[in-house]
Amino acid sequence: MKAAALKSGKFEIIETDKPLLIGKGAIVKIAGCGLCGSDIVKIKHNSVPDGTVLGHEIVGKIVEIDSESDFEVGDDIVMGHHVPCFDCTFCYGENYSMCRKFKRTNILPGGFAEYIFVSEDHLLNTVFRISSQITDEEISFTEPLACCIRCVKRTNVEYNSNVLIVGLGSIGILMGQAARELGYKAFGIDLIEERVNLSRLYGFEESFLLQNVEDTVKEMKLNVNPAGFDAVIMTSGADSAIDLAFKAVRDGGTINVFSSVKSDSSAYPNNEIYYRELTVTSSYSSSPVDLEEAFDYLQHHKVNTEGLTTIYSLQDINNAVSDTLSNKIMKAYIKI
Ligand SMILES: [Zn+2]
Ligand SMILES: [Zn+2]
Repeated sequence: MKAAALKSGKFEIIETDKPLLIGKGAIVKIAGCGLCGSDIVKIKHNSVPDGTVLGHEIVGKIVEIDSESDFEVGDDIVMGHHVPCFDCTFCYGENYSMCRKFKRTNILPGGFAEYIFVSEDHLLNTVFRISSQITDEEISFTEPLACCIRCVKRTNVEYNSNVLIVGLGSIGILMGQAARELGYKAFGIDLIEERVNLSRLYGFEESFLLQNVEDTVKEMKLNVNPAGFDAVIMTSGADSAIDLAFKAVRDGGTINVFSSVKSDSSAYPNNEIYYRELTVTSSYSSSPVDLEEAFDYLQHHKVNTEGLTTIYSLQDINNAVSDTLSNKIMKAYIKI
């Protein structure tokens, strides 16, 4: 079968053996797979071994199965890639993404291939049967949306609070809709005018173009609340993101860190946090519970992802990467 394997930070299309069904589990024929921001980070920093097949936002069809679950051959499915143990310090504290088993569990190879092996553990926890009229590209947002749902929940502010989403890429657009569904008023901000305008189609109360941080924060406060935002969620690691978040959040408010930033801009203003009684929290990845919720939102069309994806063939995957890096597109979906 064909797969896209990384070699020195670039994908190469290779011929490799189709995975075999050994023991319990399933073989899934991949229909397509979303290219995640976390894949981009791994490619950019060349941080995974050569030969790795990435891709975890997987849509496909079960073609072989031996399982205690109720999945059958022919089922169209979408899935996530990590399974927590539900029985460790981290899982008891609901830090599922910190669970050692969560980090260990993965899909073989990855979604940028024609077939994958899906373990019994995955079938029982992170695989969902698609039953509604929805395109593969739309339902492939299950995993990224789950991460956003978890992030909004971990932001944990009062119902109807004003939440500013920093960064209006596909994740920012999902985040805004997750915030709205969970009872908040979502506002957006980005450096790219096209994205600010686009976000208005996806249910944000208002979106702002970031030019000069001071001036834009002044404008936002004038429009929304002179005190500032109850919460700020950082989906962007742009240089200005931390500065912006601290200037835009109200005293006593919450900042949720949902992105890495360049290592040289990592100094958090301790005294701002202390004297203004801010809460700084974070959210990393998702859990099976969030996946289920995200799947439900998408199947019932509560979250709109129409028009966010650009489709590429497996052969064209390197262009998908460069178009994502240059912000030419919002989200790449690799059709296998
Ligand atoms: Zn992802
Ligand atoms: Zn655990």
